Amino acid sequence: YQRIVLASRPKGAVVPENFRLETVPVPELKEGEVLVRNHYLSLDPYMRGRMEDAKSYAVPQPIGETMIGGTVGEIVATKNPKFTVGDKVVGMLGWSEMGVSDGVLLRKIDTTHIPLSAYLGSVGMPGMTAWYGLTQIMQPKAGETVVVSAASGAVGSVVGQLAKQMGCRVVGIAGGADKCAYVVNELGFDACVDYKAGQLKADLAAATPNGIDAVFENVGGEIFDAALERMNAFGRIALCGMIAGYDGQPVAINNARVFLTMRLSMRGFIVSEHMDLWPKGLSELGALVATGKLKFRESVAPDLAAAPEAFMGLLKGKNFGKQLVKLI
Ligand code: NDP
Repeated sequence: YQRIVLASRPKGAVVPENFRLETVPVPELKEGEVLVRNHYLSLDPYMRGRMEDAKSYAVPQPIGETMIGGTVGEIVATKNPKFTVGDKVVGMLGWSEMGVSDGVLLRKIDTTHIPLSAYLGSVGMPGMTAWYGLTQIMQPKAGETVVVSAASGAVGSVVGQLAKQMGCRVVGIAGGADKCAYVVNELGFDACVDYKAGQLKADLAAATPNGIDAVFENVGGEIFDAALERMNAFGRIALCGMIAGYDGQPVAINNARVFLTMRLSMRGFIVSEHMDLWPKGLSELGALVATGKLKFRESVAPDLAAAPEAFMGLLKGKNFGKQLVKLI
């Protein structure tokens, strides 16, 4: 089967040569192990951080080993009594058509009412990220104004829909008219500002007439600065990501004084450090997806060989919704 390994660490933006596609033999299973045929691979912004060896919350991706990544698939062979051939599972088997697992980090999933791929998106890590930042950090009340950047994406789309269900006024920020139209017309946000239209500050001011009470920040840089300028007193910020700064370009916060004048609080978080809350969050998200109350959209690369290009596109906003790679 095929897999993609990290060939070299990026110097500046990611390039195709940072990855290498390899063909490897299917290994013999040891006692307790299962063999999984992966159907979808999730591409996520955090992978950019793992490609570097800078100090971070997680250890770097080793050179020459399968790129880290979340996967959904099906058990095709098992020497573990907890799993049966045909079981659908979500796990972290990486950029690879197949994977061997000892079962510890593999979770069986029910695809009766929820599509398999959604377990990598709205009912998976990105959905849980949205749920955590919103319910544990922002804690908005009905009637408050909530702003979310990268609003059409895997995380942002869930943040906005959940905040709408909490009775908030929800404003997205996204790149391009198509993404903004989707965010308002399909996802039901109250407004969406296209930061590529060239008048971010004026458009955000028009969309937030009562100021901003809570922000879910995914991007950083001038998008975050524009939101900070509109914050109301005692506003809360969930700092989830700063994707504008991942691929080599530094991003700064220029409006730091507003934290003092508006008595703001901001907390960064890493969703994988809050596993205790995942069962609760995922069951709520799963129920919403199963009943059509939480919508999502996917960009699907056709095969493993297309993964590097799709990943580079994700870091430039070329994806529209959750970026996946189809493996079978
Ligand atoms: P998305 O599906 O939102 O895709 C990324 C989006 O980010 C792009 O579509 C693009 O949207 C925007 N983007 C990309 N590059 C830039 C750029 N240079 N400047 C501005 N916008 C850019 O990804 P996810 O939903 O998976 O992730 C969203 C954020 O959440 C990321 O910052 C990620 O790191 C973070 N995250 C954090 C976690 C945590 O535990 N803290 C866990 C999971 C995700 P557009 O075209 O609208 O600009």
